[in-house]
Amino acid sequence: MTGADGAAHGIRDDVDWEALRAEAVRMTTLAYAPYSRFAVGVAGLVEDGRVVSGCNVENAAYGVTLCAECGMVSQLHATGGGRLVAVWCVDRNGDTLMPCGRCRQLLWENGTPDTLLQTPAGILAMHEVLPQAFGRDVLEAVAPVD
Ligand SMILES: [Zn+2]
Repeated sequence: MTGADGAAHGIRDDVDWEALRAEAVRMTTLAYAPYSRFAVGVAGLVEDGRVVSGCNVENAAYGVTLCAECGMVSQLHATGGGRLVAVWCVDRNGDTLMPCGRCRQLLWENGTPDTLLQTPAGILAMHEVLPQAFGRDVLEAVAPVD
């Protein structure tokens, strides 16, 4: 495990974590969460320096609800693609949230094994929060992927 600053892993020091957190908190104010009243915001730094973000969007048919990470990944692709290098997900109080299992898979697909994630236990790399991940490499081992 790393410290909150990630220094123990020699983790990149060019991530403005407070800017990511501020954007994630701002996104909680835009969340559509009338059913749970549990607003979530997330922000991610892209390898080219862009910051992308998202909020949760609930639905009366609960299973259709979109996590904040879904919106962030959509914004990632809609604004030029690339890989996420650092991500922070928070509740409306700014407290760190751990992405759900589905969203860890989303972050895996749109980041790298070394993408950094703020967690309640400090900064961890994606390979630590989704070990033995199912990913593109598994499919490519069987058939080419575009
Ligand atoms: Zn999720």
